Amino acid sequence: MAERIAVVGAGQMGNGIAHVFAHASFPVTMIDVSQDALNRGKATIEKNLDRQLKKGTIDQAAKDATLSRLTLATDLSAAREASLIIEAATENVALKYKIFADLDKIAKPDAILATNTSSISITEIAAQTGRPEKVVGMHFMNPVPVMQLVEIIRGLATSDETTATVVGLATRLGKTPVEVNDYPGFVANRILMPMINEAVYCVMEGVGTPEAIDTVMKLGMNHPMGPLTLADFIGLDTCVAILEVMHKGLGDPKYRPCPLLRKYVAAGWLGRKSGRGFYKYA
Ligand code: NAD
Repeated sequence: MAERIAVVGAGQMGNGIAHVFAHASFPVTMIDVSQDALNRGKATIEKNLDRQLKKGTIDQAAKDATLSRLTLATDLSAAREASLIIEAATENVALKYKIFADLDKIAKPDAILATNTSSISITEIAAQTGRPEKVVGMHFMNPVPVMQLVEIIRGLATSDETTATVVGLATRLGKTPVEVNDYPGFVANRILMPMINEAVYCVMEGVGTPEAIDTVMKLGMNHPMGPLTLADFIGLDTCVAILEVMHKGLGDPKYRPCPLLRKYVAAGWLGRKSGRGFYKYA
């Protein structure tokens, strides 16, 4: 019998994480404060399983079994039986601190508390709990069922045992875990976000249209998608939140979010998830 997994947050990342664990035979509880988000998250999992079915990478029995392992809940207390809890709620420092303080009270004493945060300090999140040695970053990439990498981030107090457990679990999902240390943005976003931010400055200054900028990076640098398409995919609110954490945490003005990026977020143009960002989506 596989260990139970709880995923907190049923948005873009949370439902993807729930998908890959359920597909790898783990019973999964997906928790969100919003019943709507849970319903949408489950519908996305079904849609993505159908896509895998069509491609022939899974069969109908695997799809049915994956869905049967999934339970939905609106209350954090549903995480109480889990051996591993992965938090994938909105990228907001105060929110994550509160979730971890609450999880510390709810979770089994030996449960590992992981966060999918893109940039917030694992060490600081761990300090909200009485078990900092059992807190770790498990940074999945979007879309989770497709992307190979899991960035494993060790906080200052994360134990070797916790790290080895999550490395082993990521491997059981068929992913490639890569261990890094805890500095704002870790490795993935430390390098990616300044590029996205610079692309937005290029739009703001009229250096090129979004299409032109994305085409230069795709055809010139052999990137599979341009930085503005990728920003829309990640969510522009998430991009601003990550840049703010790096700006504050590293104290270097080069990480300041571009004013145009802030303006889009203020307008509710959050990218794919809201139907409009640098591009429009049906
Ligand atoms: P999202 O906006 O799609 O989903 C966030 C979900 O969290 C929402 O459904 C919301 O209802 C829920 N939520 C908010 N407060 C909650 C609470 N107290 N308890 C339970 N659920 C709560 O965001 P996302 O893109 O899925 O990002 C989630 C996390 O993953 C963030 O930390 C983000 O930085 C990180 N991440 C995002 C990407 C990406 O490409 N979007 C990639 C890697 C990591």
